[in-house]
Amino acid sequence: TKEKCYRKEFITVFGSPVDENPTVVIMDAAFKALGLDWIYNAFEVYPQDLETAVQSIKALHMKGANCTIPHKVAVMKYLDHISDAASIIGAVNTVYLKDGETYGENSDGKGFTKALEEDQIPITGKNYVLLGAGGAAKAIAVELALAGAGRITVVNRSRGRGEELVELLLSKTPVKADFVLWDHSYELPADTDVLINSTSIGLYPDTSSPDLVYDSLRPQMVVCDVIPNPPQTPFLTEAQNRGCHTLNGCAMLVNQGAINIKLWTGLDAPRDIMKAALLKEFQ
Ligand code: NDP
Repeated sequence: TKEKCYRKEFITVFGSPVDENPTVVIMDAAFKALGLDWIYNAFEVYPQDLETAVQSIKALHMKGANCTIPHKVAVMKYLDHISDAASIIGAVNTVYLKDGETYGENSDGKGFTKALEEDQIPITGKNYVLLGAGGAAKAIAVELALAGAGRITVVNRSRGRGEELVELLLSKTPVKADFVLWDHSYELPADTDVLINSTSIGLYPDTSSPDLVYDSLRPQMVVCDVIPNPPQTPFLTEAQNRGCHTLNGCAMLVNQGAINIKLWTGLDAPRDIMKAALLKEFQ
């Protein structure tokens, strides 16, 4: 007779606040579809307890963890290994355990480039306009740059963060990059290939849109939003009204989750099922 295992594999997200983090929805859907009796649950972790929380991954033989606000940067000092991209970005959102050691990865930006790939949107040599310079913007910009993007124009409200991101791209990646201070309604350069909102503008319950000259959008431009909730932001609707192909924040979130599942289970994630579960949740 087959030996029974009553122990379930466990994966967590460390954050604070973390109660409203929807990642469990896509993970549950994925585990079910893959036939894995695994558990994903959020843990409220305060900054002063992060080290103990990370040690628990090893102590409890967990497969891994996600890190979210405010732990993405602080977690790095407690890990055994950090991927090249995550060290350039300076933040880790995913931890996995391999041969008893912890590895840090950042799948936020990779989730974004994977979502572009999924829609057959080429990256090499293309011109990007990136609204925002926070954590999400940084991860996206670094992955686009490492994937061969031609030029990234960072448009940000505060000069310090914007210039810092451009400096990082120029010093650590081969991409061309420039900064525009966002103190006016921004008009897109006509040679823009892809426009990305990576600010938190439009995140539920906010219904506003980035301050742009929307008539500078051309139908051949691809327009992306990182906001997963609501999936259809007023920003994306503006772009669609001008004939642009759009990509919403759910695509990025699901692809990021799919990359994590591969790291934790070694299996290819059921992305369509995960996407459907997330859209249902945000209905
Ligand atoms: P940060 O706080 O690190 O950065 C926020 C950015 O938005 C900054 O550049 C900030 O500018 C800018 N910003 C905020 N409000 C305004 C405004 N009213 N006008 C102009 N600029 C503004 O946040 P994150 O980068 O971590 O997250 C940003 C968004 O990305 C969140 O809504 C989050 O939900 C989403 N996200 C989505 C993911 C996905 O998988 N779909 C993954 C990760 C994040 P300034 O520097 O001037 O303050």
